[in-house]
Amino acid sequence: MRIAVAKEIEVCERRVALIPDTVARLVKQGVEMWVETGAGERAFFSDAAYEAAGAKVITDTATLWGEADILLKVSPPQEREDGRSEVDLLKEGAVLISFLNPLGNPSIARRLVERKVTAISMEMIPRTTRAQSMDALSSQASIAGYKAVLIGAAALPKYFPMLTTAAGTIAPAKVFIMGAGVAGLQAIATARRLGAIVEAFDIRPAVKEEVQSLGAKFVEVKLEEETTTAGGYAKEISEVSKQRTQEVVTEHVKNADVVITTAQVPGKKAPLLVTQEMVAQMKPGSVVVDLAAEQGGNCACTDPGKDIVWNGVTIIGPINLPSSMPVHASQLYSKNLSSLMQLLIKDNALNVNFADDIIDAACITHAGEIHNQRVREALQAFTTVS
Ligand code: NAD
Repeated sequence: MRIAVAKEIEVCERRVALIPDTVARLVKQGVEMWVETGAGERAFFSDAAYEAAGAKVITDTATLWGEADILLKVSPPQEREDGRSEVDLLKEGAVLISFLNPLGNPSIARRLVERKVTAISMEMIPRTTRAQSMDALSSQASIAGYKAVLIGAAALPKYFPMLTTAAGTIAPAKVFIMGAGVAGLQAIATARRLGAIVEAFDIRPAVKEEVQSLGAKFVEVKLEEETTTAGGYAKEISEVSKQRTQEVVTEHVKNADVVITTAQVPGKKAPLLVTQEMVAQMKPGSVVVDLAAEQGGNCACTDPGKDIVWNGVTIIGPINLPSSMPVHASQLYSKNLSSLMQLLIKDNALNVNFADDIIDAACITHAGEIHNQRVREALQAFTTVS
């Protein structure tokens, strides 16, 4: 059984799939570990550290990909400089575990099927108690929520905490967090630690208590429809509900010094929460940090990957924030992967067991077929459109 860790070729990806500590644990378990040279470099884990952990450092990319039983990555496979896809380097029957974005970019599933790869998508790990230690969406979203507050605080021309000084009293900053999932809750906690007054809003009423327990005020909007799926995720809401929420949140956006938006609906474009009219009412010097920038943005003024100033308001649309904290992001992702692999390895051999609900849900392709119904539907819709 050979597990390989690939070097990420995506330009802004600094994370690595496994850190040396996890490699050492797998080696102890009897697994042969290969790590591509330089794989951990941008997360400050050297080839020497992987060698000390018992891994073999491989310099030839094609050998590493082509001879792996399980190939581990962070970002979805990319086109290489030679025009080939990384997927084409895998041997038939190999297992690929990575973020794969199969609902956002379902065409990847077609390529994985052609290659007869067993692909496990980290986005599709169920959000259940048993799967908590494998939940990479949560481990990485929490980093994004934390970093969003630091970015907002750095861009704000004001203090966050209340200060009483000889030169006068400083009022605390007001932070409004829209979307109180994993990233939003971490953003609330971080903004509170920095001393801001925090308000938060979400269409899922179930988060009210969590928001309050972190010391923030929950902005409640009573909607006439069910806003949560059976799996606990948000649903896309009707135009009437969108109108209603906008009426309520406009006042809170207007009064905030920093607005942090984190709202997502799985498999859909991010909902528009902050319109241009709302930004126009914000105080000059205020800041919006839009964590949904990559999914189309929660703010109408967001330009993904850029900081812009519109009407005196700074709007920041960061991309891949977890990668900006590669040490801890890699450490947590590495733990997520190692927990998952305990389900995939039995007696030092590969064991893809679909009777296990986590493997069944997270596996998107297997033995030349699409394994996951939602991915099948997404690919059909994608094929019809294109
Ligand atoms: P997400 O990234 O999909 O969305 C972020 C937040 O945006 C969510 O709280 C969502 O309700 C909110 N949102 C969506 N549309 C909105 C709108 N129009 N206006 C305002 N807010 C809107 O969410 P997530 O952080 O991945 O969490 C999704 C769910 O999974 C949550 O219920 C969370 O508690 C649950 N979860 C469970 C576990 C577990 O039990 N192991 C672990 C992690 C997350």
